[in-house]
Amino acid sequence: IVNMQKLNKHFGQLHVLKDIDLQVTQGEVLVIIGASGSGKSTLIRCINGLEDFDAGQLEVDSFKLEPKGKSQQSLNSIRKEVGMVFQQFNLFPHLTVQRNIMLAPLKVRNKSTQDAAKLADKLLARVGIANQAHKHPEQLSGGQQQRVAIARALAMEPRLMLFDEPTSALDPEMVGEVLDVMRGLAKEGMTMLVVTHEMGFAREVADRVIYIHEGCIVEQGTPEEIFDNAQNERTQAFLSRVL
Ligand code: ATP
Ligand code: MG
Repeated sequence: IVNMQKLNKHFGQLHVLKDIDLQVTQGEVLVIIGASGSGKSTLIRCINGLEDFDAGQLEVDSFKLEPKGKSQQSLNSIRKEVGMVFQQFNLFPHLTVQRNIMLAPLKVRNKSTQDAAKLADKLLARVGIANQAHKHPEQLSGGQQQRVAIARALAMEPRLMLFDEPTSALDPEMVGEVLDVMRGLAKEGMTMLVVTHEMGFAREVADRVIYIHEGCIVEQGTPEEIFDNAQNERTQAFLSRVL
C-alpha cells in the first residue's frame, strides 16, 4: 500500500531523508523508532503529502506523489485514504466531539447528517467513549481527546493510518487507553505506521520495526530482531538509552 523508493528531502542545507526505501503491505503494522531529529515525523508526513520531497518515488494506495514542483493531482485522493493522528490532538474546540468526527464524512464523503452522526457514534463506541459525544474537547481528558482524534481519522474509512507520537503529550496514566485503541485497530487488520517511544507497544504490536538515524534507515526487522538482537551498533546504542 506504500511504495517509497530513494526518497530524499532537504530542509535548506539539512539533508533530512536520505535515499529512504520503504514498502508497506496491506495489514502491516510498522513502528518507526529513532532519536529526536532523525527524520521520523518528516518521513511519515511525506506519506500523506504534508511534506513535499526533493527526489525519489512515492506511491500510496496506487496514487503517485511527485517530487516538489510537479503537479499533485493525487494529493486529495491520498488524503482521503490516509488517516493521521498527531501528538497534539488538533480537535476543533468550538465543536462537540460528535461534530468533530462528523466533519469529514459530511464535507469530503458527502454523507447525510444522519449517516455522519450514526458513524460518529459507532466510532466513539469503538474507541470507548460513546457517552462523551455531546461534550466539547476541553471537557475531556487528554487520553479521551486523543481517542476522539483517532475516531475522527477513522471516520474517513482510511486504508492506512499514520500515528506520530500519539501518546507523547499525555499524562502517563492515559497512555494505556490510547495504546489499547491502537492495539485494537492493529488486531482488526488496519495498516499502520506508528512513530512512538513506547517500546513495549512496539514489541507487542509491530510486525516490523524500523530504526532511523540521521535520515537513514540503518536497520529494520521483527521486534525480536531489533530489540533482542540488533546488528547495527547505532541501533544498539539507541536502544540501550531508551530500553
Ligand atoms: P522528534 O523525535 O523530535 O519528533 P523527528 O525524528 O520526528 O524528531 P523531524 O521532525 O522529522 O524529526 O525533523 C528532522 C530534522 O528536520 C530536524 O533536524 C528538524 O529540526 C528539521 N526540521 C523539521 N521540520 C522542519 C521545517 N519545517 N523546517 C526546517 N527544518 C525542519
Ligand atoms: Mg517527530
